[in-house]
Amino acid sequence: MNAVTTAAAHAPQLNRTADFPILSRPLKGRRLVYLDNGATTQKPSAVIQAESQYYEQSNANIHRGVHWLSQHSTDLYEQGRESIRRLLNAGRPEEIVFTRGTTEAINLVAHSWGRANLKEGDEILITGMEHHSNIVPWQLLCEQTGARLRVVPVTDSGELDLDAYRALLGARTRLVGIVHISNALGTINPVAEMTRLAHEAGALVLVDGAQAVAHQVVDVQAIGCDFYTFSGHKLYGPTGIGALYARYDILKDMPPWQGGGDMIHTVSFERTTYADVPQRFEAGTPNIAGVIGLDAAIRYVCGIGLDNIAAHEHHLLDLATAQLSSLPGVRLIGTAADKAGILSFVVDGIHPHDLGTILDTEGVAIRAGHHCAMPLMTRFGIPGTARASLALYNTEDDVTALMAALRKAQKLFGTGQ
Ligand code: PLP
Repeated sequence: MNAVTTAAAHAPQLNRTADFPILSRPLKGRRLVYLDNGATTQKPSAVIQAESQYYEQSNANIHRGVHWLSQHSTDLYEQGRESIRRLLNAGRPEEIVFTRGTTEAINLVAHSWGRANLKEGDEILITGMEHHSNIVPWQLLCEQTGARLRVVPVTDSGELDLDAYRALLGARTRLVGIVHISNALGTINPVAEMTRLAHEAGALVLVDGAQAVAHQVVDVQAIGCDFYTFSGHKLYGPTGIGALYARYDILKDMPPWQGGGDMIHTVSFERTTYADVPQRFEAGTPNIAGVIGLDAAIRYVCGIGLDNIAAHEHHLLDLATAQLSSLPGVRLIGTAADKAGILSFVVDGIHPHDLGTILDTEGVAIRAGHHCAMPLMTRFGIPGTARASLALYNTEDDVTALMAALRKAQKLFGTGQ
């Protein structure tokens, strides 16, 4: 048992199900057991109410208005930026750019920083366990600039091969892209150490934090990374809102990537000058209500405490791992020493999609497939996995329900004896 596991075993369990209205709706006549949190999390009443209250009391467009409501709405929006700054421990609010989510944040960096800074012969180093959103934007950038994409291999236990990483880092490496927590394996990568090594080689580092921010304390200054991305909807917030953290000294020199209202200083037909950061990267009317909802979500998780959430989820992870491992015919994909609450597995004789469908009839919602990590599935020689992913509202009863549904599926298929 490592230190986290020992602490998790003794941590008082959270009891927050009642905060999430959807969890009390029956599904197909059964209690909903929601274990698809890696895809998106459910929303607490605090978030739902904050959004509807915004539309009822505060709605107006931001930044350009002289009337009170517009200024009030702007204050709420900028308060959301400050909330994210605190969540990530960024040095200043200007380092936070609102985006639609992780995908858009990574595309922003690839379009803006990438096109301005990369040339033929440069290298972008990513890992073998990246989500497609941290692969495809770099492939597009390589096509446009002549840069080359290189990949850090993944070991059989689902960890990064750090010796190979050191060997791949070199004078040509301009950017390293690393997923903080793998959505398909649950592996927590040593992003601070990897950032240190990348900086020694002269490369910048982007960390994809989509699966991290809701499950543990994230401190971008402690990690030392140059870019950090996340999505609000995986943090109990609304869809369509997320953020990019970028170090101020890098962000301030990055060119705009989308043009339009709100990102300019002056416009004439001859020449346009651009706003300072972060407004330079927020063209057009943003998702204001989304920011308000995300702010409420951040207050909600910080009120509970991310350390408490991590301990709660680790306890459930340990419980589910032990029970899954004891089921005949079940193989866990991703057994890293340092793991978050994601259980990816394959079951002999049952395709992951069939498994997902059968579990659904039992009221247990899991995800089945390649989890937008097709190269990783190829690495393990499988088409996909079944994935149960945990959140702060899951309980020991949810783990029991998952196991019962799995046994039922095995019985149906005549496997698992
Ligand atoms: N990165 C990881 C690790 C993810 O798990 C996901 C979503 O599943 C993404 C990126 C993309 O997030 P979004 O679709 O919210 O932009």
